[in-house]
Amino acid sequence: MIVARRKPFDEIKGSVSGAEQVLILGCGTCVAVCLAGGEKEVAILASQLKMALRLENQNVRIDELTIERQCDREFIEEINTRVTVDDYDLILSMACGAGVQLLSDVFDHKVVLPALNTTFIGVAEGPGVWTERCRACSNCILGVTGGICPITMCAKGLVNGPCGGAINGKCELDYNRACAWAMIYERLQKLGKMENVRKIQPPRRHDLATSPALVIHKAYQ
Ligand code: SF4
Ligand code: SF4
Repeated sequence: MIVARRKPFDEIKGSVSGAEQVLILGCGTCVAVCLAGGEKEVAILASQLKMALRLENQNVRIDELTIERQCDREFIEEINTRVTVDDYDLILSMACGAGVQLLSDVFDHKVVLPALNTTFIGVAEGPGVWTERCRACSNCILGVTGGICPITMCAKGLVNGPCGGAINGKCELDYNRACAWAMIYERLQKLGKMENVRKIQPPRRHDLATSPALVIHKAYQ
């Protein structure tokens, strides 16, 4: 899932300054799960903004709406069946950066502003805790590394074994974190796949991860 965090309140308040009608638009998928931009967070931000702007004698109408996904045109098209987008001076999107961009494309005559900072692709470790797991490198080597991503988990992104600086299995750049390659070694031992540590990975395919990436499924070509 995509993990994101809400921007500092003062930054958000500053970004809506001067507008008279604002739509806060939540996204019901990843950012709802990580408690950053779902229906509940939309309601909290709307209340905070209303209160803060009223205290400054700013008369701003703030409406709330949450759709299933802002990264999918099908759901974005629903918006105008529930509100009239042209009524608003700006849309404050509580989606990840992909959602904000698609919204800006679809409503390219409207100001669309991000209310979140998109952080990473990760997993839920427990209540309120998410960790990064994937950098979307377009050439996954988890099959060789026992399901642990060295590009994400190693501070140097090394794909061919450790740098040699680890002490007691901790990363030389942060002794509070496990060395990714120590973890990979242990995992491969557990899997009986120690031969994998001798498999040399070719140089990273940075050409595959050029931006902006494009994927067209074969069935749709
Ligand atoms: S190897 Fe690449 S695709 Fe696989 S988890 Fe790591 S960054 Fe993601
Ligand atoms: S100590 Fe391990 S995790 Fe840290 S940079 Fe070196 S190989 Fe990567």
